Amino acid sequence: MTAPFRNLLAMNDAKPDTILTHAGSSPFEQHGIVNPPVYHASTVLFPTLAALEAADANPFEVVNYGRIGTPTSFAFERAVAELEGGYRAVTAASGLAAIATALLAFTKAGDHVLITDTAYGPTRRFANETLGRYGVSVDYYDPCIGAGIDALIRPETSVVYLESPGSLTFEVQDVPAIAAAAKRAGATVLMDNTWATPLYFRPFDHGVDVSIHAATKYIVGHSDAMLGLMVCNQASWETVKRAAVRCGTAAGPDDIYLGLRGLRTLGVRLKRHGEAGLALADWLSRQPEVVRVLHPARPGDSGHALWRRDFTGTSGLFAVVLEPCAKSAVAALLDHLELFGLGYSWGGFESLALPVHPGRVRSATGWSDPGPLLRFHAGLEDIDDLIRDLDAGFARLRHARR
Ligand SMILES: *Cc1c(COP(=O)(O)O)cnc(C)c1O
Repeated sequence: MTAPFRNLLAMNDAKPDTILTHAGSSPFEQHGIVNPPVYHASTVLFPTLAALEAADANPFEVVNYGRIGTPTSFAFERAVAELEGGYRAVTAASGLAAIATALLAFTKAGDHVLITDTAYGPTRRFANETLGRYGVSVDYYDPCIGAGIDALIRPETSVVYLESPGSLTFEVQDVPAIAAAAKRAGATVLMDNTWATPLYFRPFDHGVDVSIHAATKYIVGHSDAMLGLMVCNQASWETVKRAAVRCGTAAGPDDIYLGLRGLRTLGVRLKRHGEAGLALADWLSRQPEVVRVLHPARPGDSGHALWRRDFTGTSGLFAVVLEPCAKSAVAALLDHLELFGLGYSWGGFESLALPVHPGRVRSATGWSDPGPLLRFHAGLEDIDDLIRDLDAGFARLRHARR
């Protein structure tokens, strides 16, 4: 069984920052050392035949083979589940592995799944190309559909999949309304909660069954590991765990350790990412070349009312739409930025800027803005330095457009 962890439930209503700091920790099981050891394991030995058979009878609860779990993965899962208010969590080798495993866990040939049109692009590709080949039909819905999802749910709909705010364009979903409709129809509600992390959106309070995270992003937080999580309510845990074990999606122990270590500082990092993102968005909104800012924590954003109702904070990822301009002008802006890197992923300490193309990855809704869309990840640099970097970039953009 998992090590006896410090029992935070004994401390009634511990706040998220306290849970972050202590959850999943059991120093006196390991010589008083603060952090858990990294268990590199395939084989686990049993002292007797009886012990081996007892472990086989209860395979998800005991350490009996590296792929199924180690004290390192149990500590991480325990900490995240406690933080997010889930029952238990299952680690995967990447965010996409977690998404694929959760979708496989709750579908079979003949089923129908409903996925938000603003889902992360590779989620769509997995659903279309892989689930499709196994006889699962996939439909996409407008992320802003709310209770109107009722009209799309069929008797064979087994999964309703959400991601809020949406990838690339940051639409906020009415999660409780969508989840309630799904529940009435007996469908399982999966949600990609990567943007908000377990800190800023509480999926289980809003009717979600499985909360999925690319821990690769803010939880690891340093751009140095791939890691995924499926945090489950009690009803879904065993189905998810079984699917993960059947698929063999286990993550490596060093990466799990980096996830657990990142979790300890998530509160302070995320606060700073969020403040920096808002400051950058504000500065960008005042540039004449910026047509729209897509950031749900800004008053006036189309998702702001729902964000205020359901979220407790903002992370640092958002986007802006520019006036139509030549690619060479966008290159002039991006190519010589000193602090913002040009690259995929986000959630690390360094700022990033990336042109993105929502029109290529949606089908139920359109994307009509003619100008380029740039996504920004606000890192942990000094905010004034970041603005100076962008200011020089916009000067180059202006010059290139003349
Ligand atoms: C990056 C990302 C994923 C996939 O995570 P990986 O760890 O890169 O596989 C899933 N969902 C969202 C919203 C992401 O941004």
